[in-house]
Amino acid sequence: MKFELIQLPYATDGLEPVISKQTIEFHHGKHLLNYVNTLNKLIEGTELENAPLERIVRESEGALFNNAGQVLNHNLYFTQFSPNGGGEPTGKLAEAIKSTWGSFENFKKEFVAAGTGLFGSGWVWLAKDKDGKLSITKEPNGSNPVVKGLTPIMGFDVWEHSYYLDYQNRRADHLNALWNIIDWETVGKRY
Ligand code: MN
Repeated sequence: MKFELIQLPYATDGLEPVISKQTIEFHHGKHLLNYVNTLNKLIEGTELENAPLERIVRESEGALFNNAGQVLNHNLYFTQFSPNGGGEPTGKLAEAIKSTWGSFENFKKEFVAAGTGLFGSGWVWLAKDKDGKLSITKEPNGSNPVVKGLTPIMGFDVWEHSYYLDYQNRRADHLNALWNIIDWETVGKRY
């Protein structure tokens, strides 16, 4: 299987001022493209060549795991935003968040705290288990909750390449701003 660079469901400047056009162009057009191209090179001729991306992430290691994980991570990441995003989740996801963390506000606080507390590069995810139980997971580098048997629902990228041009070292400010562009309709469908 040849993986392809996903198309953005918005213009490159559509998420400004939360994420600048320049950051989107580098992050999607260069970083993600490089992960996709490297994954395609590494997967060729292996027994996982035609496997779905989630399975490759679960069953590989080393460079293949890193690049497959980052393609999966960024495909979920870039499709969870909208220029008309923000607000609050609705329906079943809203109920599950409230019953797990008490309130949406408290969930956001704990999610951002997990992201700012992650040392080095990685991701913070909202994930669900097979029974629909929600949790916040911290994943190092290119990992994804699928390696823990969980389904990823929403992820914040805390690699510096995702925010440094716009926020420099202010990771918490970047993470807090992301709530303004989350497309809860898309994220809700993953739950
Ligand atoms: Mn990234």
